[in-house]
Amino acid sequence: MTGKTVAVVGGGAAGVLATRELLRCSDDRVVLIEPDAPGGGLAYGSARPWHLLNSRAGAMSADPADPSDFARWAECSPASFQPRATYGRYLSDVFARTALSYGDRLEVVQDRAVRLGPPSSGPPSSGPLSCGTLSSGTLRRIYTEKSGQIAADEVVVATGNPAAAQPFPLRDHPDYIADPWRPGVLESIPSDVPVLLVGAGLTAVDVVLTLTADGNRDAPVTAVSRRGQLPLSHISEVPPAIDLRLAECRNLRDLVRAVRVAAAGAEDWRAVVDGLRPSIDRIWTSLTEAEQETFLRHLARPWECHRHRMAPSVGARVDALRDEGRFEVRAGGIRSVTAPPAGGVLVELEAGVQWFGAVVNCAGPGRLPASAGAFVNSLLNDGHARIGPHGLGLDIDVQGRIADNLWLIGPLRRGRSWETTAVPEIRSQARALIDRHK
Ligand SMILES: Cc1cc2nc3c(=O)[nH]c(=O)nc-3n(C[C@H](O)[C@H](O)[C@H](O)COP(=O)(O)OP(=O)(O)OC[C@H]3O[C@@H](n4cnc5c(N)ncnc54)[C@H](O)[C@@H]3O)c2cc1C
Repeated sequence: MTGKTVAVVGGGAAGVLATRELLRCSDDRVVLIEPDAPGGGLAYGSARPWHLLNSRAGAMSADPADPSDFARWAECSPASFQPRATYGRYLSDVFARTALSYGDRLEVVQDRAVRLGPPSSGPPSSGPLSCGTLSSGTLRRIYTEKSGQIAADEVVVATGNPAAAQPFPLRDHPDYIADPWRPGVLESIPSDVPVLLVGAGLTAVDVVLTLTADGNRDAPVTAVSRRGQLPLSHISEVPPAIDLRLAECRNLRDLVRAVRVAAAGAEDWRAVVDGLRPSIDRIWTSLTEAEQETFLRHLARPWECHRHRMAPSVGARVDALRDEGRFEVRAGGIRSVTAPPAGGVLVELEAGVQWFGAVVNCAGPGRLPASAGAFVNSLLNDGHARIGPHGLGLDIDVQGRIADNLWLIGPLRRGRSWETTAVPEIRSQARALIDRHK
């Protein structure tokens, strides 16, 4: 089925890749709804020069059929780790080239979708109709902040990660930074006050790199997380991935044992982790709901530390900061928090009470419905979508369909699948939209 009008909501990495595939590989028309410039998004839009991709350039091509496209564009080795900002420029360029080739079937609406109307037949009764030609049949209307309503035959939701979890009790305190991605917030922290990062994953790594980038910070940065475990690093050599034989594993316990044994026997454990990647979603969906819950509670964090690794130079920089006593990572919870009148925050950690001039939330994406964000919340409240397993994303069928004529790509697929946040998986999901009616 071709020649439909597809509205893509969100023009980050997923929205750009979906737009490209739909225009290149079908006769569909695309209306891309995005408030900012297409190709930015959370990861690549406002990255600083010291924020590197955590994947090698060879894994980051926009084109599923041409794995070297990004490395060629950036004129770099496929084994290198490029700045995320470079990747953002690449995605913008991918979008610009797509618009040049298929402009007659593309409309960009610089706006924010606020809600979806119920499926209906016939043209909208009022308001501007963004894309002129619609197929007969059921329509979807997307209501936006400024443009009114946009009618489309189908809608692809590509709005990115859920909002950050908010584990810190003092939500509205002036020295608490709830969203470390907000431009300028980290630069506003004085360099002579100790800073606490709540969380020790890749977000915390990004934040400590920014806080220490100009070399002027003389007060330490502390990261605290339940396990006190930072992401591990890539090595410069690419170890050949090991294909594990997991057919005999009957449950989560067997799987964990098999992976541990293989990692202990491998020349480098990264070869085992990388070898597992193509099977992760099959493994995840084969687990019972209780096993998935056990994985989330006890294994997800250590798995993420091994799976989403820092570029070697970033790992070396973090090690140096720790050796110099400028960055410390502690295990344990936050027992209590008080806000002294003089400013800053008194935090009771396992080791005792300590004063911090600023506390930065580095907890990563939260769960639904609390972290849904306005548009996804409206999908839930209006009955267009259901929360998926474990509240990690939205519920979808095996093809990625939320409901009739409503599709989902990107991080909000988490829960139904596990590997759905990185570019190779998003790229495959975008490509699969072409076959959605087969
Ligand atoms: C810090 C960070 C580093 C990462 N590094 C890597 C890496 O090195 N390698 C890798 O493979 N993956 C990496 N990832 C994972 C992955 O590439 C990103 O999560 C990816 O950017 C997801 O793309 P997305 O388009 O779904 O979300 P986003 O890029 O966040 O884009 C979502 C877009 O939707 C728009 N939007 C939101 N709501 C609305 C609305 N209501 N109406 C219209 N538009 C809306 C936003 O403006 C935004 O542009 C990283 C992720 C993060 C967060």
